[in-house]
Amino acid sequence: VVADIGVEALSSVHEIGRPSMDSPSPLEHKYRRGYAAILAGDMPGAAALSAAAALHAGAGYVRLIGEAAGAFLPNAVVRTPGDPVEVLADPRIGAVAVGPGLGRGERARHLLDAALASNRPLVLDADALSILAEGKLSRLCKATHRSILTPHAGEYAKLFPDHEGSKLDQALRAARETGCVIVYKGADTVVACPDGRAAIAHAAPAWLASAGTGDVLTGIIAALRSTTTSPFGAACAGVWLHGRAAELAGPALIADDLIDQLPAAIAECL
Ligand code: AMP
Ligand code: MG
Repeated sequence: VVADIGVEALSSVHEIGRPSMDSPSPLEHKYRRGYAAILAGDMPGAAALSAAAALHAGAGYVRLIGEAAGAFLPNAVVRTPGDPVEVLADPRIGAVAVGPGLGRGERARHLLDAALASNRPLVLDADALSILAEGKLSRLCKATHRSILTPHAGEYAKLFPDHEGSKLDQALRAARETGCVIVYKGADTVVACPDGRAAIAHAAPAWLASAGTGDVLTGIIAALRSTTTSPFGAACAGVWLHGRAAELAGPALIADDLIDQLPAAIAECL
């Protein structure tokens, strides 16, 4: 179980350190080890990257929900929902990721609405953030489970156009305003919590500036969030694993290489 992610409560900003993770106990079964649902939209390849990352980040069960998504990912359990609302009602689902490859059309909006209505811990990225930036941010603030938002600089600017100051100050303000954990990505990634905690990853390889690496991070964080009550802990641990996988993958990495290196990165945390 990735139950107790060892990111202690912090009153000041620190560099994100290696999390401590647990091996599954012999009595564990797949649904309890972390059940993450990934909603796939118009470009299911991106959601499939998130789903594969969630599996290799230690989730016991990943459901990739969306038309044609199965063609990309034979290992994940796939279902094409008539009604995503119904699928997301499964109480075993510990976290829902939505955004990578979602698109911004009518179906994308329907999927995002289903995720927001599901009252589950969410990881929102990419197109989900772009749609929220059009005016749905207030709905997010009302969600009872604290969700995680993972914007890059462009997505951040659309979500919070009036924010100024340091990246740290901005991320903390965004966290306070939304009630969500903010993972403000880039060469420095800042993780900020509504309660004022924040942490930074300074040293991730710039080789991460590559298509699909953000989709991988979303899947990792969804897997970790599905087994912990702490969205801040899940986000910090996810950012660490992502950066460490990049170090292990080496130069000219592609998103798939990060997924391949996740087990080795996790082995360092056991
Ligand atoms: P996205 O922009 O959604 O594709 O996500 C890109 C991922 O790569 C994020 O995890 C970023 O933090 C990371 N990243 C992008 N550029 C850099 C960089 N120059 N140095 C380190 N990490 C980066
Ligand atoms: Mg992205």
